[in-house]
This record gives sequence, C-alpha cells and structure tokens, in this order.
Amino acid sequence: MRLLVLPGDGIGPEITAATLGVLRKSAELYGFPLEIREEVIGHASLQRHGTTVRPELLELARAADGLILGPAATYDFQDPAKGEINPSAFFRKSLDLFANIRPARTYASLPQKLGPFDLVIVRENTEGFYSDRNMAKGNAELLVTDDVVVSLRRVTRKACARIARAAFELARERRKHVTAVHKANVMKIGDGMFLDECRACHREFPDVIFDDLIVDAALAHLIRHPSRFDVMVTLNLYGDIISDMTSEASGSLGLGGSLNAGDDFAMAQASHGSAPDIAGRNIANPFSLILSAAQLLAWYGRRNNAATCVNAAAAIQRAVENAVAEGEITRDIGGRLGTKETGESLAQRLAREAI
Ligand code: NAD
Repeated sequence: MRLLVLPGDGIGPEITAATLGVLRKSAELYGFPLEIREEVIGHASLQRHGTTVRPELLELARAADGLILGPAATYDFQDPAKGEINPSAFFRKSLDLFANIRPARTYASLPQKLGPFDLVIVRENTEGFYSDRNMAKGNAELLVTDDVVVSLRRVTRKACARIARAAFELARERRKHVTAVHKANVMKIGDGMFLDECRACHREFPDVIFDDLIVDAALAHLIRHPSRFDVMVTLNLYGDIISDMTSEASGSLGLGGSLNAGDDFAMAQASHGSAPDIAGRNIANPFSLILSAAQLLAWYGRRNNAATCVNAAAAIQRAVENAVAEGEITRDIGGRLGTKETGESLAQRLAREAI
C-alpha cells in the first residue's frame, strides 16, 4: 500500500510520527507492503515553497493508494493569493471526497460525560455552508461593503443522494438505524432537498430504520440519550460541529478518528485541528490519527480484497481499546504517557496481541 503522508502544523508532526510507527508495525505483523512518501503542507510548505499546499501534491496523492493528512493551522491562512490555501479543503474538493465518516464511542474505563454510546457521523464533505469550496471558481463569501458580508451555501441533489446512500450502506453493517440531521424547518429548500433524498434512499433500504431530527434538537437528544443514535447523516457544517462534540463526549477530541472517502480514493485525517496550545510538548493524543489511519486501511482493504489490511485495521482498533482499558494513554484521557510513548506502546501491544 502506497501512502502519501502530510504531517501538517502544530501537533501534526507528533501525532503523524506516532501513527506511522503503528502502521509500519502493523504492515510487518499482518504482511502487507507499505510504502510511505512524506511531503510538507501548511506553514512548513509556505516557508519552503511559498504556498501551504503545492498543486503537484494532488498528482502524488492520485498516484498513491491513500493519503494521511495531518491537521493544518487553517485559521492562519487568510489569503489564497499569497499561497495560503486550506489543505483540507483542497484535497476534499479536488479528490471529491464526499463522505466524511466520523465514528465516536465511549470506553468503559473513561468517564462517560453523557452515558455510553457508539455512533458514526456521516457528513457531506464537499459543499454546504463552506463558502471556500462550493464554487467552481472564486469564493462564495463576499464582502459587499466594509460592513456587509454575503455567504452563499450550495446544496446539490447529487451530493445529498450520495451522502444518504453512504449512510444507509454503513448502517447495514451496524445497528441498522439512520438519523438524518437537518434544519429543514428554516432552510426549507436546501435542507428540505437533503431530507427528501434521505427519505428516497430509505426506500431502497427497508431493513434500516430511518428517522430525522432538526439539528438543534438533535444536540439535545445527544446529551439526553446518546445511545439512541447509530448513524447520523448530515450536511457539512452541522456534521463538523456535532462531531467535535461527540468525540469530546467519548473522552477527548484526541479520540476522534475520521475518514474522508470518495468513490475511489480516501484520506485519513483526525477530526481535530492543529492544537497550537499543546504543540511541541509531546502530550497530544495520537489515537485520533491512528484510528483514522485504521479506517483508511479498512476502506482500502475492503475495496481491494486485501484481507491483510482489513485484519490490520481491526487489530489497531482492538489495540486502541485495550490500551485505553489498561491506561496506556495520554493525559487528556487520564494517562501519563507522552505522544511518542503512546505510539510506541501501541506498536508493542499490536505485536503482543498478534501472537
Ligand atoms: P483544535 O481541534 O486544534 O483544538 C481544540 C482543543 O482540543 C484544544 O484545547 C486542543 O489542545 C485539544 N486537542 C485537539 N486535538 C487534540 C489531541 N490530539 N490530543 C489532545 N488534545 C487535543 O481546534 P482549534 O484550537 O480551534 O484550532 C487550531 C487550528 O486548527 C486552527 O488554525 C484551526 O483553523 C485548525 N483546524 C484545522 C483542522 C484540520 O486541519 N482538519 C480542523 C479543525 C481546526
């Protein structure tokens, strides 16, 4: 498996190094070839190449079997004309990675802020309120006068239909329950189209239970009774916001794995940002990116009939569960290990548990 790896800003290099250690160990143990090419994005790229993301990285990504994207300091990047491009938006849009799959679950040994749950957010990833990526050319956030901003949202039937399908297909592998989360009471046309497409898709999946909630009420239900949710399908901005809450409720943002998947390419990317407040201190939780990489391995393995990758992905997920249970974890979830040591101990655990 050939991977393009872009460590990113802030805690990115630290959690990426830990993730690559675990991936290399899993390749050795489960017997799949692993070829890694590392390149820079973000501030390092801006300094070296005058842009946060070089266009040629797209060709390198397409030539690879998958991409691991570290978090970028996107808030710092204001002006695309000065090379300040959001790498995450660049790859999601250019590679048409329309489904952002963000699992979140509680662990018995960690404090459960909302009670137990095990759910997946399936987030539309290419349009919606994200005005920096919903136009063929230019930006849909416009400064009309110094005091007036207009931002345009794009909702297409195609994007709604394919994200709905991704959610129902995933639900069939889980507890067979899809909840559409929307604001169709106010955004009657755009969110209404999304809801219509979810309902239409449900007709093809009669074995899956379907319901829907208005996004504000969905948050209340999440706090009140999170275990009622299995697969939550939603539009771009709602999914971004809800998934930070669900991963923090599972223990930490540092547990939030995330895969950006298209029809024939996928990118692993932790759901959190570059965490500048803890960068360079060897305290960031690497499990978010490690779990994202495991999602990528499973995705690739299933599509290519590579049982070794599917098995390695399952072993990494199990090893993370066991590491959490035994306290071999970073301090955000009550442990004492550093980022590097957490990665090393997970790699050793993989070897022990594979025997
Ligand atoms: P953040 O997600 O980086 O951090 C929020 C909080 O969670 C911080 O307290 C941080 O220390 C903590 N946290 C995040 N990841 C953690 C981990 N692995 N282990 C332990 N704690 C962790 O959000 P922010 O501070 O609002 O954003 C920082 C930068 O990241 C901004 O420039 C923002 O635009 C960018 N960002 C990038 C992405 C991306 O590249 N995908 C996503 C979100 C935010």
